Amino acid sequence: MYFNIQEAVTAMQRKKVGWKAPLMILLALLLLFQIADLVYLTYFDTSGCRLPVLMYHHFVDAEESSEGTIVTTARFREQMTALKEAGYQTVTIPQIIDYVENGTALPRHPVLITMDDGYGSNLTEAAPILEELGMCATIFVIGINEGEEYYPHSGEPMWQERFAFEKAAPWVEKGVIDVQSHTYDMHQLASYGYSGRDGVRRLDGENDADYRQALFSDTEAFRQRREGRVSTELLAMAYPFGYYTQEADQLLKEAGYAATFTIDERPNWLQVGDGSCLRMMGRLNVTDGCSGEDLVSRVNRYSGRFYMKSN
Ligand SMILES: [Zn+2]
Repeated sequence: MYFNIQEAVTAMQRKKVGWKAPLMILLALLLLFQIADLVYLTYFDTSGCRLPVLMYHHFVDAEESSEGTIVTTARFREQMTALKEAGYQTVTIPQIIDYVENGTALPRHPVLITMDDGYGSNLTEAAPILEELGMCATIFVIGINEGEEYYPHSGEPMWQERFAFEKAAPWVEKGVIDVQSHTYDMHQLASYGYSGRDGVRRLDGENDADYRQALFSDTEAFRQRREGRVSTELLAMAYPFGYYTQEADQLLKEAGYAATFTIDERPNWLQVGDGSCLRMMGRLNVTDGCSGEDLVSRVNRYSGRFYMKSN
């Protein structure tokens, strides 16, 4: 088609479109590049991927839950079914480490499910549902409370049963559950009056050597208690109360934890060849009030997915 640039310019001048048209075109192009970049990162870039991590605590087989962090089995089943139907596949901590260290492929829409504190309900209520749906989860156990009926420091009866490693072992063998660390004995606040420490934080006036020793001893105590009782490797820990610092994280890395988890709600980007992406990872707190549909849309946001697909 014949096209006269001079005529076009004259037309632009006559219509007084001036600088607006080129600016709009530029903005549209920028937007297009942004979208193309996101689509590329989400669907085609195999050197990195987003990983939503969910956090649960206790479960109850009842009609209703008395508080948000206690999720009914019916709600958990709804949430897990919705995730599965949306195309999500659960992964383990060894899998995400293998992806980051060796580039071993993860499922296309991975999600990591975690549960804190080591409640018996994780095995009696949640694990059967996970098994039925072909899913898995990682439980962060408080070492000193494992299998105990009374809190070792106060002597008070434990709030809810804490499973012994032996009870988890058959689930670990089946690949439904993995058991990792929620520290051995640092799931405490200074106000409890035992250690004087808030989680893994440094005490006032504590010197470098003592602090390092405290974190290394705690890690070693957890390792020894778990040794020979759970078949998987000890690789990860979740920070009690979500209290963490760069300094603590560096020390815990040296102590042997390849991955650490916070309670900060933020997305995670796993990058092949960069172990730092496995540190202080964000998690989404999932409560009983969250429907399956709500959960999928939250997880979609943390996965960078713009639309739902069933596979
Ligand atoms: Zn906890």
